[in-house]
Amino acid sequence: MTMEIEQLKLNGIEGKRPIVIAGPCSAESREQVMSTATQLAAKGVRIFRAGIWKPRTKPGGFEGVGVAGLPWMKEVKQATGMLLATEVATPYHVFEAIKAGIDILWIGARTAANPFAMQELADSLKGTDIPVLVKNPVNPDLELWIGGIERLYRAGVKRLGVIHRGFSSYEKKLYRNLPLWHIPIELKRRYPNLTIFCDPSHIGGKRELVAPIAQQAMDLNFDGLIVESHCDPDNALSDAAQQITPEVLDFTLSMLVVRDNPQTTENITVLRKKIDEIDETLLTILAKRMGISREIGVYKKEHNMPILQSGRYSDILENRAKQGESLGLSASFVQEIMKSIHEESVKVQMDIMK
Ligand code: PEP
Ligand code: MN
Repeated sequence: MTMEIEQLKLNGIEGKRPIVIAGPCSAESREQVMSTATQLAAKGVRIFRAGIWKPRTKPGGFEGVGVAGLPWMKEVKQATGMLLATEVATPYHVFEAIKAGIDILWIGARTAANPFAMQELADSLKGTDIPVLVKNPVNPDLELWIGGIERLYRAGVKRLGVIHRGFSSYEKKLYRNLPLWHIPIELKRRYPNLTIFCDPSHIGGKRELVAPIAQQAMDLNFDGLIVESHCDPDNALSDAAQQITPEVLDFTLSMLVVRDNPQTTENITVLRKKIDEIDETLLTILAKRMGISREIGVYKKEHNMPILQSGRYSDILENRAKQGESLGLSASFVQEIMKSIHEESVKVQMDIMK
């Protein structure tokens, strides 16, 4: 199905990059919510986030204060005028959040991975006009992410945006959730008007990664950032390691370089033309190479030879990597390309053997 997704309108806040949503991972107490919110508002933040219901990996942890936290959110709006955002995972959450005057809903990564849950949420949102932000599913599956968005769209939810919060992996390395940037980039290619946020807190999992990840998101032309900020991060009841104070958030935002020059200058046009020409040459050469692979395939068939000959493939990978390096290309990049060319050659030759 084709979706006509429009740029998300958020009471005029949407004009300038980045649109900032900030607030604690979880609403913990009235004092913590009010203290964080007033500090954020004083720094110019206009959308306040707080988790009311928390999806935790294991039971027994802090699972959010539930509806008891909604009056605190209302108080934030009265005191600061900020828009309010919270996570919903069930129709009950949707009902309670809307009743309490929450302005923006987001759907978490675990929920976004579950089509049943997404459908239930979509059904419960029918007839409302509330903006909904869909986080990427925990697993790197673009079609599943789009499927969830489509369920909402079909239910009439037209004020849509997305959040890239990284993807879960078994091995925890530098990041808590791997930022596979090409996935949100492909999403944006398909839906150019889709408003797209980055969540550097859940990608990085550590305070010191918030700034560099936020900068990368700006460089990749993301529209907004959703950042976890807490008045006392060390004592946060959830995600303590990744939360930053409103003060640090303000400093981080002030350091961001937002390159917003939309001009296509003459120089760039000339360079792009060159790239277009080089790509055409590359493709012509690639087609020529495939033609030769095909010839070799015919020869192998006629002489009863197997497609794969041990040694040849490793030699190619090794030699090309060296040749590439002498031309200033990284060995891993060249090997990646050679692997994919080789895979296609094998396919072509297998077709010939049929
Ligand atoms: C959150 O934003 O606090 C949250 C639980 O995020 P995610 O769904 O990305 O894990
Ligand atoms: Mn969190």
